[in-house]
Amino acid sequence: MFDFMDMSYDEPGEPIGSGPYIPDAGECMRCGICIASCPTFRLFQIDEETPRRRIRTISKLLVENLPISADERRHLDNCVQCRACETVCPSRMAYGQLFDQAQAELKVNPGWLAKLAFKLIRVIALKNT
Ligand code: SF4
Ligand code: SF4
Repeated sequence: MFDFMDMSYDEPGEPIGSGPYIPDAGECMRCGICIASCPTFRLFQIDEETPRRRIRTISKLLVENLPISADERRHLDNCVQCRACETVCPSRMAYGQLFDQAQAELKVNPGWLAKLAFKLIRVIALKNT
């Protein structure tokens, strides 16, 4: 997360930051400007195959620490990582980096599947009571 305290104004000229600011997945405005640039959306014509929806899935994983469904995982995996969405995004979402972080999280922490299974079992158990 960006922090103004990381910036130094000791020297005249450009402020010195701690590195380029990378918005986190929760900062997507859902404006949809990226949609037309996405080849998987052009192919499938459904919202699940848009960068906006994939960033929502990534946000669940990385920001909200929520489990994702098998469908969400499938649509995330369908991304061809062309990064065309990055070039048009007004929020400068670093989609490629966020995607890589999500993949790492899914490998390191496959617990989302266990959480999903647990939720399903709970729903079924509650329905049967
Ligand atoms: S253009 Fe950027 S801010 Fe808008 S929906 Fe797409 S990723 Fe989110
Ligand atoms: S990187 Fe993925 S989400 Fe972004 S435009 Fe390419 S296929 Fe679509």
